[in-house]
Amino acid sequence: MEEILKVNGLSKKFDDLPVLDNLSLSVKKGEVVVIVGPSGCGKSTFLRCLNGLEDIDEGEVLLGEEKVNPNKKNLSRTRERIGMVFQSYDLFPHRTILQNITLAPIKVKKRKKAEVEEEAIKLLDRVGLLSKKDSYPRQLSGGQKQRVAIVRALIMHPEVLLLDEITAALDPEMVREVLDVVLSLAKEGRTMLIVTHEMAFAKAVADRVIFLENGKIVEEGSPEEFFDNPQTDRLKRFLKTFSYEK
Ligand code: ADP
Ligand code: MG
Repeated sequence: MEEILKVNGLSKKFDDLPVLDNLSLSVKKGEVVVIVGPSGCGKSTFLRCLNGLEDIDEGEVLLGEEKVNPNKKNLSRTRERIGMVFQSYDLFPHRTILQNITLAPIKVKKRKKAEVEEEAIKLLDRVGLLSKKDSYPRQLSGGQKQRVAIVRALIMHPEVLLLDEITAALDPEMVREVLDVVLSLAKEGRTMLIVTHEMAFAKAVADRVIFLENGKIVEEGSPEEFFDNPQTDRLKRFLKTFSYEK
């Protein structure tokens, strides 16, 4: 399979704090990579470096042949090619759901309003929210808002989708409805990098799982290897924090 995203020796510090330490990773088209690791280990910073939200100190990120993050001029193009969804949905409160979704493709991509709305309606239907198109964000539950945020990313036609703990703020019954959408995206062959603490979901959705600690990849493997037969003591200890024994 064709390589779509390549990270070479990425390093990043905040003042004197090293957060990413010479990190390299290569992602194939259609691959789903799940990144797990303790809080503060650099997961969000890593994703943010990939779509140009953070400056990189050393190393490079390549999307296809193109270098990401080289200068401000290419930044909006990078953000179109790499979509990101965050824990907080950041919808515009005074715009309807349909407007929230269609704003960027019309303004940034200069696409025709009618065509964009037609696509938005199809996508909303797909995530079960067509009936909410004229509602405002405050009228939706957290899980519904997060599904809207996914649609808002998809309508930009990103080549890679980055999901940063998108269910971390949701009640348990809403986690499922959002993760089911992500599973369906994986099935249709979307390239995704997913940061999550939902281990059962990670096992189901991932082609490859990566354990990040202190800005380094400590261990990686197929979901079966990773969860059922972890090699490093560090990963074994980390995985134990998700299981309970009486
Ligand atoms: P994670 O997502 O794995 O919890 P983050 O990437 O958010 O970790 O943060 C990694 C480290 O970098 C943490 O120690 C955090 O406090 C620090 N950090 C993150 N963003 C900033 C920032 N803008 N300025 C200074 N330090 C930051
Ligand atoms: Mg984070």
